[in-house]
Amino acid sequence: MLQGIAATPGIAIGKAFIFRPEQLNFEKRLIVQEDVPKELFRLQTAIDQAHKELSTIYNRMAKELGRDRAGIFQAQLMILEDPGFESEIAGLVKECNNVEAAVGEVATHYIKFYGEAQGKEHMRERAADYRDVGCRLLRILLGQSWSPGTRLTEDAIVIAKELTAADMVDLDRSKILGLAIESGGRTSTATILARSLEVAAVVGLGRILGQVNSGDTVILDGGKGALLVNPDDKTLADYRRRHETYVACKNELQSLHDLPALTLDNYRVSMLANIDHPGEVAGALAQGADGIGLFRTEYLFMGREEPPGEEEQYQAYMQVVREMKGRPVVVRTLDVGGEKSPWYMVMPYEPNPFLGCRGIRLSLNFEDVFKSQLRAILRAGAQGPVRVMFPMVSRVEEMRRAKALMAEAKQELDRAGAPYDRNMQVGLLVEVPSAALTAELFAPEVDFYSIGTNDLVQYTLALDRMSDVSPIDQSLHPAVVRLVRHIIDAAKLVRKPVSMCGEMAGQPMSTPLLVGLGLNQFSAAAGSLPEVKKVIRAITLKEARELAAHILQLATPEEVKDCIENWLTARRLYF
Ligand code: PEP
Ligand code: MG
Repeated sequence: MLQGIAATPGIAIGKAFIFRPEQLNFEKRLIVQEDVPKELFRLQTAIDQAHKELSTIYNRMAKELGRDRAGIFQAQLMILEDPGFESEIAGLVKECNNVEAAVGEVATHYIKFYGEAQGKEHMRERAADYRDVGCRLLRILLGQSWSPGTRLTEDAIVIAKELTAADMVDLDRSKILGLAIESGGRTSTATILARSLEVAAVVGLGRILGQVNSGDTVILDGGKGALLVNPDDKTLADYRRRHETYVACKNELQSLHDLPALTLDNYRVSMLANIDHPGEVAGALAQGADGIGLFRTEYLFMGREEPPGEEEQYQAYMQVVREMKGRPVVVRTLDVGGEKSPWYMVMPYEPNPFLGCRGIRLSLNFEDVFKSQLRAILRAGAQGPVRVMFPMVSRVEEMRRAKALMAEAKQELDRAGAPYDRNMQVGLLVEVPSAALTAELFAPEVDFYSIGTNDLVQYTLALDRMSDVSPIDQSLHPAVVRLVRHIIDAAKLVRKPVSMCGEMAGQPMSTPLLVGLGLNQFSAAAGSLPEVKKVIRAITLKEARELAAHILQLATPEEVKDCIENWLTARRLYF
């Protein structure tokens, strides 16, 4: 049994498929001088063909997953369009190297250059982009055909070192039973992909590729974060039973769709969905969401040369408002910065970008971009219950400045005669410890609070959210639990609503604790809502409060986890 990080719940039993990304295989030959123009022509044709293939993939993925996640293909298109890349290859051809060797050598050079940047995820991704582009060109030059989704021919549990959005194009998604990944954490690309595929996933497994072979029977326990290789008959039979229970539970969850999230003693909780793209609204409604608690807007801003205009944004926000048919929608203003900034918003180099000009801090440096986003949100507010929320706020002054710019945006709309919501509610995304500890002091500036545990964990524990040092979910760390309690209590004190939109809200493990701390608005990825609702409907507020009081005495995340696990198991809520 190999232990990793539980990324998405579920049990999968099946054959292992070891996914290894294509490698650059090329033959080196010297060519005669007369053949150089012919080889250069082959290079040009291959680049054109690769460009066509990648544009098709980009357009498809942008539609399915949103521009942000499809951005990886745009990065590859940019490599193909880079005159420097092409002229380096052409230079080697002019020195009488065959074009395959020239492509292979130039790509290898970049893969080494970026791949050696230890520990920097975005640099490793860059290396992977050069590998993919190099492989694509070589395949075209060798006349081999390509069609998407051909590498997985039967249902299997995919096992890989890393898995990028580009790798997914080679796999037939309908055949993926689960994902077991060596690298990554709860918020890495593979985890997000697993969630959108709704399959069980375990990440951060460490070196496993040497211990599993394609065709081995494996069991993936997404809830426990475990991968079992070639299990004995008894374990297999046991897991088959649990799998049946799991499937039955999933079906039962479907039936909860129209039922309210009400505890046994009638405490009502609202279930909201997080979305990264308007395309996800249908899924949110299908899982019974009462509203959108977090609409991330980064996808509108990434992978393009200039910021989206006010009208384009308005249309995107309106799509969500229309489809939600009168249910509330919280739009979060742009949260990028540091490594992920769009190039039209680049700030001077910072060694620790996550502690630098990110979220609201970046928006306050680009007032025109910020105000155009605010105008679009305000206008959408005239058509439905829209609220705005600011990310990464660490001090009251930032909130005041953001609101001053919002007042300017309103005046601009007045001058343009455009209808908008004059009383739009403004929220504070509490994800920095300074904002958590002073939540009540923000009261004069805000109408509601939302707790962002993903960043709150990383800033409280000084633990990078992409890091995989700890197999235990650190949102159960006593420091985080105490901060969450403080924010909920502060909001109650100042009589303002509070929700939670970090991953913790979507983990059924944390549900009784959060209910016990007094949280009554949960916002999570649509796929997690039914399981959270199931827990809420099976417990009482009274017993949840007792559990929370007990948990506040515990000293480590492990103790908290064990305590909740035992509590849920005793109520037959954990499997
Ligand atoms: C959070 O930090 O918890 C959050 C909801 O925002 P994001 O995951 O987009 O940073
Ligand atoms: Mg955040």
